[in-house]
Amino acid sequence: MAKVFIGIGSNEGDRRATIERAVALLRLRSGIEVRAVSSLAETDPVGGPPGQGRFLNAAAELATALEPEALLDVLQGIEHQLGRRRTVRWGPRTLDLDVLLWDDRVIANGRLRVPHPRLRERRFVLEPLAEIAPGAVDPVTGRTVGELLSELPSDEGGDAT
Ligand code: ATP
Ligand code: MG
Ligand code: MG
Repeated sequence: MAKVFIGIGSNEGDRRATIERAVALLRLRSGIEVRAVSSLAETDPVGGPPGQGRFLNAAAELATALEPEALLDVLQGIEHQLGRRRTVRWGPRTLDLDVLLWDDRVIANGRLRVPHPRLRERRFVLEPLAEIAPGAVDPVTGRTVGELLSELPSDEGGDAT
């Protein structure tokens, strides 16, 4: 079984219900066990078109016997089932399920890049992940999730302190 961390986000519809349903659907899948789920944190959208709503973000730890592309298929199927329609890049979405870390593997192919390429700069990803796995290691930098979070520039949001 591989130990996998995923990021979960929603900024459209009933965000909390959608995230809870996504976790419930993951629990029902054979070949996937949900080992931990972080609390839900409300965050401002980063990038993407202006005017979209705030996100709820979370992270989860999975144990899975699936191959990475097969898990991505499952995640995209759940996104679709819960109303995700791919339109504007980084636009509003009912559900986003991203693979963040997959054991200590580095994966780069046409469909999947792991560790998630924007993991290190995203507070909205690192904060929930650090809640459940502060010691998980990014195999590209050798830094733990806790270290990556504490090393993020603190001037985010414009207020330089
Ligand atoms: P971001 O990647 O910046 O978080 P996003 O999550 O909004 O953006 P999506 O529209 O959900 O992007 O996914 C676009 C494509 O990204 C997917 O079709 C998928 O093939 C690819 N992808 C590459 N690496 C990953 C990953 N680690 N997890 C999920 N999807 C990935
Ligand atoms: Mg994403
Ligand atoms: Mg995504």
